Amino acid sequence: MAKHTVLKQYFGHTDFRPGQEELIDGILAGRDALGIMPTGGGKSLCYQIPALLLPGLTLVISPLISLMKDQVTALNGVGIPAAFLNSSLDSDGFRQVCREIRQGMHKLIYVAPERLGNEGFLALMQEQNVALVAVDEAHCISQWGQDFRPSYLKITAFVDQLPRRPVLSAFTATATAEVQEDILQRLALRDPVKVVTGFDRPNLFFDVRHPKKKDDLLLALVEERREKSGIVYCATRAGVEKVCDLLNRRGILATRYHAGLAEEERRQNQDDFQFDRKAVMVATNAFGMGIDKSNVGFVIHYNMPKSLEAYYQEAGRAGRDGEAADCILLYGPGDVSTAKFFIQQAGEENEALSPLEVAQIQARDYRRLEAMVDYCKSTACLRGHILDYFGQAHGPTCGNCGPCRGQFVRQDITRQAQMILSCVKRVRDRLGYFVGAGLISKVLRGSRDRRLMQLGLDTLSTYGLLKGTTAGELGHYFAALEAEGYLFTELEHSTLRLTPKAGEVLFRGAQVTMTRRAEPEAAISAPAAAQPVEDSLMAALKATRWKLAQGEGVPLYVIFSNATLADMARRRPRTMEDFLEVSGVGQVKAEKYGRAFLQTLADHRAGEEE
Ligand code: ADP
Ligand code: MG
Repeated sequence: MAKHTVLKQYFGHTDFRPGQEELIDGILAGRDALGIMPTGGGKSLCYQIPALLLPGLTLVISPLISLMKDQVTALNGVGIPAAFLNSSLDSDGFRQVCREIRQGMHKLIYVAPERLGNEGFLALMQEQNVALVAVDEAHCISQWGQDFRPSYLKITAFVDQLPRRPVLSAFTATATAEVQEDILQRLALRDPVKVVTGFDRPNLFFDVRHPKKKDDLLLALVEERREKSGIVYCATRAGVEKVCDLLNRRGILATRYHAGLAEEERRQNQDDFQFDRKAVMVATNAFGMGIDKSNVGFVIHYNMPKSLEAYYQEAGRAGRDGEAADCILLYGPGDVSTAKFFIQQAGEENEALSPLEVAQIQARDYRRLEAMVDYCKSTACLRGHILDYFGQAHGPTCGNCGPCRGQFVRQDITRQAQMILSCVKRVRDRLGYFVGAGLISKVLRGSRDRRLMQLGLDTLSTYGLLKGTTAGELGHYFAALEAEGYLFTELEHSTLRLTPKAGEVLFRGAQVTMTRRAEPEAAISAPAAAQPVEDSLMAALKATRWKLAQGEGVPLYVIFSNATLADMARRRPRTMEDFLEVSGVGQVKAEKYGRAFLQTLADHRAGEEE
């Protein structure tokens, strides 16, 4: 069978996504592979299709137990023999799967990395013909990454003990060069085919809001999206509790997830969300890696994360089905101090590292945080900002983010800019070091603050130049000057610094304009795309899916994704042959569910003709 046949017959797709074919071809030709694609890019197929075509067994190493179960359910659902071995199985279940492996029943086996150190498991694999090892979420092998897992370091030792070296492949959505290099080295990939696809996710709408009251805006945003499933990320456990209560009091079906909950409750809540019993998951960043829920319609960050990598990964959990989805960040100045606190704390807690290493890691974390804050303050295309960060080229505007869609007021602030920048310069010249924005603001507004007086800053020529301007207003000017690249907040010591570009304003008369979003506090952001009122056919198809999912006890998307239902509603197939044309419908699913959906479509036609 050829790879295209497998794609169509099992997975119901007609075309490969960017990068998939190259990786699959490489693996089939016996080469190691490294696939770097965004979340939702389709990495799983890159090892699942070779697994079917290669003689022997494919071992998939994946960090999360819940994810394995869902992937295996999904594979079995399209007729592919696969199983997992992990701590969620009881001893009978475990022996059963081992027996099935010995009988050669499976094409794919999912295991957690911890398992690789187990003697029994090694012995079992030594008896098998392991053709391919696929390392999913491969960034877990890197200490530079967000989610380092020491057990990932066992992979090479394990592979070395197999009688024949299998093809080794690794997949991740993490883009940074450091992490890529780490993966190559630590897995000892041999001359791999390496595919890095674009990082853009065109169906995601990005926005940053600066609300006075986060709770009000959050409620408005979630209520607007009542039909959808979504995730709200908070920085702390206490935040999760508070926000989850807030939503529940408003009658929104929300559940929660954080490391402080008992294992049992976490699993229950995750299931409630996964199975669409609860529409909204409120969680800390402990929730998410490897979640495979394709119909997440929005991801709202109640607090700013600590880096753009983390943000893009979390926000990227929206819209994996390719449907329009919203990623909205609610920024508040307090978020910066929370993030700084986490950076400090992480350094202090990590006893395995030397003081020098701690300092290096903290310095790097501060740079990342600064980039995150830049994003929050940006008034230009947000998608462009993200792609710049990952080093990918892009057009000037994307048309699908807050700034690209928003209404802006522009104001000339050249005069204020000159005063502010020269004040920062004078203070620096006087003291020999940069100070924070708070002190600069006080100098400009002519405050009688004690520290200011002690330092003698009231004798500067810029003292009191902007008397009568409120601290809030000055904050807007600072933010605008940062967005334009004249000022820069260095977070480790909380200082406001001049950039070399400031010279253009100070010495060469450059004009400065401030771009401010026209956003009345209560106004509700434009949703990603005009949301079509869901028509009755789509509702009927969803109802049928719901019934089938209940019957089988599987999540909705294991039956069909929203994208598949949407294509079905568009094509309105009448025969089984037409039904197979629907994107996402393969042979096995057509046989299992075709009749039910064709019936729903027929009922709908009859209703229309009446
Ligand atoms: P990743 O692991 O890269 O985050 P997945 O492998 O989970 O992404 O795939 C995300 C979604 O994309 C799944 O719903 C999958 O069915 C779909 N998908 C993958 N490849 C294709 C393809 N070639 N055509 C259409 N849909 C695809
Ligand atoms: Mg994946």
